[in-house]
Amino acid sequence: MKTIFRNLAEKGKHLKRSLADLCLPCRCLNCNEEIAYSRVLFCHKCFEKIEFIEEPICNCCGSVFSVGKSHICGECLQQKWYFTRARSLVIYNEIVARAILSFKFGGKKEALKTFRTFKELSGMPEDIAHADFIVPVPLHEKRLRKRGFNQASLLALSFFPKEKDKIKNTMLFRKRKTIPQTGLDGSSRRKNIKNAFWVKDPEKIKGKNIILIDDVFTTGTTVNECARVLVKSGAKRVDVLTLARAER
Ligand SMILES: [Zn+2]
Ligand SMILES: [Zn+2]
Repeated sequence: MKTIFRNLAEKGKHLKRSLADLCLPCRCLNCNEEIAYSRVLFCHKCFEKIEFIEEPICNCCGSVFSVGKSHICGECLQQKWYFTRARSLVIYNEIVARAILSFKFGGKKEALKTFRTFKELSGMPEDIAHADFIVPVPLHEKRLRKRGFNQASLLALSFFPKEKDKIKNTMLFRKRKTIPQTGLDGSSRRKNIKNAFWVKDPEKIKGKNIILIDDVFTTGTTVNECARVLVKSGAKRVDVLTLARAER
């Protein structure tokens, strides 16, 4: 029996995935209720509460407005961002937060197909530049070893399955361990993350358009610091795409 499973698994990733789906009941990523097989692992009740981001938004940082037309928000008029545009797929509400937690810390990688579907449902934000490279926000080596995967890297793969060659995990590195940004205020976040990243081979990114990938855009401090280092190293333009966005 074991050999059958091994052979089936070796026949390809797709098959391996369908097998796993058949063997395990699907459960809602938020309330854990058993659900029928679906590309979105949420029950109807929880899925209804997912808020896909639509215009009007800030043309620059992507923050969501309740009414009116898209324009540049007050913060972006004052603040210098090193990225050109930041876009996210859904609002970081309680439901999405729980799904991200179970993926990131509970190792529920089956959540990735749900996140991929979010990207398909929301489409690619049109105003993000065509990318030469897709760069996940890196984890420090120690944290990567402890967790076993970089969530941003897996998100990049699930968002851009046809552009695997463009996804670069060894372009941007985190050189020092930072404490998690959650719970820190704006200036502590900036201090905590300052000079935490470095580019391995600046020659390779000269004049290139880069899309930076992360799970959540909260204050933008982390992606901005990544963008700063990339732009300083010669990148032409950096845009940011995150799964979710925390509302201010
Ligand atoms: Zn549910
Ligand atoms: Zn803005």
